[in-house]
Amino acid sequence: MSRSAHPAGPRHADVLPEGHYSPPPADLNALDEKVWSRTVRREDDGVVSVGGIEVTKLAEEFGTPAYFLDEEDFRARCRAWAHAFGPDADVFYAGKAFLSKAVVKWLKEEGLNVDVCSGGELSTALAAGMPADRIAFHGNNKSEGEIRRAVEAGVGRIVLDSFQEIARVAHIARELGVRQPVQIRVTVGVEAHTHEFIATAHEDQKFGIAVADGSAAEAVRRALGHDSLELLGVHSHIGSQIFDMAGFEVSAKRVVRLLAAVRDEHGVELPEIDLGGGLGIAYTSNDDPREPHEIAKALTEIVARECESAGLRAPRISVEPGRAIVGPTAFTLYEVGTIKPLEGLRTYVSVDGGMSDNIRTALYDAEYSIALVSRTSDAEPMLVRVVGKHCESGDIVVKDAFLPADLAPGDLLAVPATGAYCRSMASNYNHALRPPVVAVRDGQARVIVRRETEEDLLRLDLG
Ligand SMILES: *Cc1c(COP(=O)(O)O)cnc(C)c1O
Repeated sequence: MSRSAHPAGPRHADVLPEGHYSPPPADLNALDEKVWSRTVRREDDGVVSVGGIEVTKLAEEFGTPAYFLDEEDFRARCRAWAHAFGPDADVFYAGKAFLSKAVVKWLKEEGLNVDVCSGGELSTALAAGMPADRIAFHGNNKSEGEIRRAVEAGVGRIVLDSFQEIARVAHIARELGVRQPVQIRVTVGVEAHTHEFIATAHEDQKFGIAVADGSAAEAVRRALGHDSLELLGVHSHIGSQIFDMAGFEVSAKRVVRLLAAVRDEHGVELPEIDLGGGLGIAYTSNDDPREPHEIAKALTEIVARECESAGLRAPRISVEPGRAIVGPTAFTLYEVGTIKPLEGLRTYVSVDGGMSDNIRTALYDAEYSIALVSRTSDAEPMLVRVVGKHCESGDIVVKDAFLPADLAPGDLLAVPATGAYCRSMASNYNHALRPPVVAVRDGQARVIVRRETEEDLLRLDLG
């Protein structure tokens, strides 16, 4: 994966020299199960299906572009995470990856908790019936109104992100006569091995309170000084799309060291630590994510070892996977509109969506896979750039993709692993109508977030 950030942006000087590309896959019709959700398969007639329904039928019924979410896969991933960490730990699904009432209901049924980071996400979680004590409230600049609502609702924890916020939450909780459970978000000086724009725990960043200069210890002091706050522990989130456990190892060490310092200073052993989310998924066949049970084993062992050497009781661990749960469960279905071969340069294939439904390629230089899903083809592979329909040359869906040379307008293409940070970051750029999310399971398809309409857009425009 490209980690380079060109100072003028990733879209510059990106015409690669001849021979740069990896060779085409042996079989363009094959679907790598690593990047497709659990129930996706190619049927005997050559059409790809999910949850037992062929994409041609889905496109006919729901239109394109659209996100199709494999409910069975989503639930199975929730269960795998809950089971891997067991009853002595908590799994919080990071709602910002993708949140809807249906998703909250599944999380509730599968025994997971949910992280929210805005009033809107909090409302969605509550509206779908998630018990407030299973909700954690995050954010580096929660408004007083948001804090008040969270405290009134009785959320299980508020993650405090600054000195001002410690005072603010303490004040509001006191006013409301509540002893609010909280954690303190600390930065441990770990830069997870990932793209600069999505790494979030080196100290030059807006989140958290630094451990290294003693600020985190001061935050603990202040939080313990407020009767209206119940300090549960500390929280560290080190980045996104992480494959290597080394960053978590360093993070856990530093967090445990802080807990030991807190015990030495205050005589209290804080009962919880949260190690955040950020676990990577396979966007292409080159990515090799770990299974939840491996991650759970690694994290639990690291924390146990560090606590033992510090003479601390092992705290209750929580984690916050977002992408690793919802990311692999959905694909985006597009229809090919135009195909433009540029002699000596490349071929552009345009689809009916783009940066409004998937900003990650433009924003993070993210890589995706793509496949022809409405039929098979025996044609030669052709190297193309798949682009959207927006008025912006950075509107790229997949930068370099091999598709069959007989690709034609009307064919359906699907981009797997778009469950996380695609619909949740979707925009109305060019007054695009944000696509629906359709949950598919056991031969049934159900719209869980409907497609926007032009009336929706015009309703906000007061003339
Ligand atoms: C974004 C975020 C997560 C989830 O990250 P993923 O990469 O989706 O797993 C978890 N915790 C916090 C605090 C976050 O900001």
